[in-house]
Amino acid sequence: MHKLISECEKDLKERFEYIEDIAYQNQVKVIEVFREEKIAVRHFAGTTGYGYGDDGRDALGRCYAKSFGAEAGIVSPHILSGTHALTIALFGLLRPGDEVLCITGTPYDTLRGVIWGEGNGSLKDYGVKFEVVSLASGDKFDKNAIKLKINAYKEVKNNALKVVYIQRSRGYELRDAFSVEEIGDVISFVRGLGFEGCVFVDNCYGEFVEKTEPTDVGADVIVGSLIKNPGGGLAPTGGYICGKKKYIDLIGKRLTAPSIGLEVGSFEQGYRNFYEGLFLAPHVVSQAMKCNLLIGLAMERLGYENYPSMDKTPYDITRAIKFGDEKKMLDFVREIQYASPVDGFVTCEPWDMPGYDDPVIMAAGTFVSGASVELSADGPVKPPYIAYFQGGLTYEHGKYALDRILDKIG
Ligand SMILES: *Cc1c(COP(=O)(O)O)cnc(C)c1O
Repeated sequence: MHKLISECEKDLKERFEYIEDIAYQNQVKVIEVFREEKIAVRHFAGTTGYGYGDDGRDALGRCYAKSFGAEAGIVSPHILSGTHALTIALFGLLRPGDEVLCITGTPYDTLRGVIWGEGNGSLKDYGVKFEVVSLASGDKFDKNAIKLKINAYKEVKNNALKVVYIQRSRGYELRDAFSVEEIGDVISFVRGLGFEGCVFVDNCYGEFVEKTEPTDVGADVIVGSLIKNPGGGLAPTGGYICGKKKYIDLIGKRLTAPSIGLEVGSFEQGYRNFYEGLFLAPHVVSQAMKCNLLIGLAMERLGYENYPSMDKTPYDITRAIKFGDEKKMLDFVREIQYASPVDGFVTCEPWDMPGYDDPVIMAAGTFVSGASVELSADGPVKPPYIAYFQGGLTYEHGKYALDRILDKIG
């Protein structure tokens, strides 16, 4: 074990205690929700066909909603990914002629084709306009620009603005995630301007990082992936959409069919992994957060620029490290793969992924294919050679990966 690791651990002691305190509070919250909902073995059973009266499905939605301070929730293995969950939610809420204002800069890469695609059934194809306000310097909300836009909607656009869109995590941008407090503050600001529509948050990578979620501070709808934080590493697939009941009902009609809504949906394998995953999620997220800080501090001490910088509290489980050197970036990502319990014998190679201009390298030696709550890393191989990493089901796994990384580039 490299000495740098024990030094970093010593210096992170207080921050680790803070993370454990958040995990404890979230753990209590989830257990109390399970008890309130009288979760029992029967909820784990699978159903077939239409799935009428599938209590496991319905109670799972309520457990997610209550854990996030929301009125109602959809949790489904039939939601294929975060992008799919966000797509269902947006199409459920929006109608031709409606407009969306995103106040956190250009949304996540896979959403761009959903929003602005040509002839692929995008929001644009359906006559929904989606505008973006860039972040102000220091990656803060640009309140002046937001105010101008919202006032313009009120005065000249006949209140067409139906959704204000917020992305909590950074995606592949070099900015830090927003805290729940900052999100709550900007929601109050937007409400103060008279906006009465839906405040929508892409909550990916943020769940259980803090004691509260955006729905606790005024967001109307939050959306995320179960192979990230809230699935706790056990959910085999799926996504969630939680929020105000009137919006969740509309979105449910899009998930299934307008005449059917949330009354149907079966899953023969049953829901035990989804419940157990939600139960484990507060702890698993704390492990990922500790991996995030440990690897972040070690990389900073080796002289690599890190996002978020180590003097800041991270508000999601992801971290970006700037290597400025192709070989070092590839070594970092490859060691994450070599440290993995699955496909740990594989050497990662950059490849031309659809939708990217540069070759991308990805390490994901995961039990659940592509699950980024498990220790994983990726990035486009181009200057300044930034690797994004996240996850770690156990702290020990992240520590072992770091030991290997230090052997290579330390
Ligand atoms: C991961 C992620 C998504 C959705 O990604 P999928 O790979 O489709 O699950 C959307 N937004 C952000 C910010 C994300 O991090």
